[in-house]
Amino acid sequence: MKNYKYNKRKQKNNALKILFTIILIIIIAMAIKLIFFNKEKTENIKEVATQNITEDNEKPVITLNGKEKEIVALGSIYNDKKAVAKDNIDGDITDKITIDGVVDTNKIGTYEITYKVKDAAGNESSIKREVKVRNSIGNKGLPVLMYHFFYDKNTESGANKDNNFIEISDFEEQIKYLSENDFYFPTWEEVEEYIDGKTILPEKSVVLTVDDGDDSFFKLAVPVLQKYDVDATSFVITSWYGYRANEKQENVSYQSHSDCMHEGASNGKGVMLSWTKEKIIKDLEDSKKALGGNATIFCYPFGQYNDTGIEALKTAGYKLAFTTQGGRVYKGSSKYELPRVRIMKTTTLSSFKSMVN
Ligand SMILES: [Zn+2]
Repeated sequence: MKNYKYNKRKQKNNALKILFTIILIIIIAMAIKLIFFNKEKTENIKEVATQNITEDNEKPVITLNGKEKEIVALGSIYNDKKAVAKDNIDGDITDKITIDGVVDTNKIGTYEITYKVKDAAGNESSIKREVKVRNSIGNKGLPVLMYHFFYDKNTESGANKDNNFIEISDFEEQIKYLSENDFYFPTWEEVEEYIDGKTILPEKSVVLTVDDGDDSFFKLAVPVLQKYDVDATSFVITSWYGYRANEKQENVSYQSHSDCMHEGASNGKGVMLSWTKEKIIKDLEDSKKALGGNATIFCYPFGQYNDTGIEALKTAGYKLAFTTQGGRVYKGSSKYELPRVRIMKTTTLSSFKSMVN
C-alpha cells in the first residue's frame, strides 16, 4: 500500500516535469522566432529605403515661363521670364536652375538662352529659348486691328454681309502673313507701358482685337489663330456672350465691351452716353465680374464715349479704352480714347500689309 502510494506520487512528479519542459521549449521557441522575425522586418525596411534613393533615374521636368521664341526691341531692357523645374523625388528645384547665354539688346541679332537643372541623383534636363533683338517701332506707332464678324463663303453668301464681316479665307491670309513674317503680339501690359514711355516695342508689333464675341469668331476665326499661334483679344458684350469667358482658349484673351451698354437709347445713340456715372460703373463692374475679375481693357459700344464714361472707367479700374476712330497708338496717346485700324470685308491683302507695316 505504502509502495503503491509512493509510485503514484513519483508518476505525478514525472508528468509535471515533462509538462514544464514542454512549456519551457515553447517559450524559448517563441522568443527565438520573435527575435529573428523582427530582424528580418528591419532589414526589409532598410532595403526598401536604399532602393528609393538609388532608383531615381527620372529626369527633372523643366518648363519655360513665357514663350519659346521672344522678340525684343533694340535698346530695350530684356526681362528674362526664366523657367520652372520639378523633380519626381526632390519636388520643386526651380532654385537650382542655371542660365547660359546673354541677350545684348544693344545689338540686333538672334540669341539663345539655355536653362539647365540637375536633381539630387544627378539626372539633368535643359530647355532653350530664342530671343530676337530687332529695331524698335520708333515713331511709326502701334496698329491695333479691329475685327467684328466672320463668314465662310463655302457655306454662306457674303452678298448681304456688311463691312463688319470678313470672309474666313481672307482672314487666314492675313494671319498667315503675320505669322510668316514674324510679327510680335505685345500683351496689354506692354501696350500700356509703351504709351507711358516705359517700354520700347519691336518693329512689326501688332495687336488684334475682335468686337462683340459672337459665335462666328469662335467657330471660324479662333481655329485660324491657333493654327498660326497668333494672339487676339475678344472684346465681349458680357450680358450676351459672357459664358464664353469661361472657355479657356489658346491664343484668345477676354476683355470688356460692356455688360448691358451695347444698346441704343431713345435718342438713337448708345445708352452709355446718357447713363449716370454710377450706373455706368455698376455695368463695368458686372462685366469685369463676368470675365473672372481680370478685365482692365475696354472697348466703347458703337465707339461712343464722353467724359462721364471715362471717369466711370477709371473708377472701375479699367486702364485703357478703345474707340472705333481710325489711327495708330503712340507713346503719349490718350489712354481712354485709343484709335484702331478697321479691317473690312473689302480689305485686300496688299492694303492689309500697309496697315500693319
Ligand atoms: Zn460692338
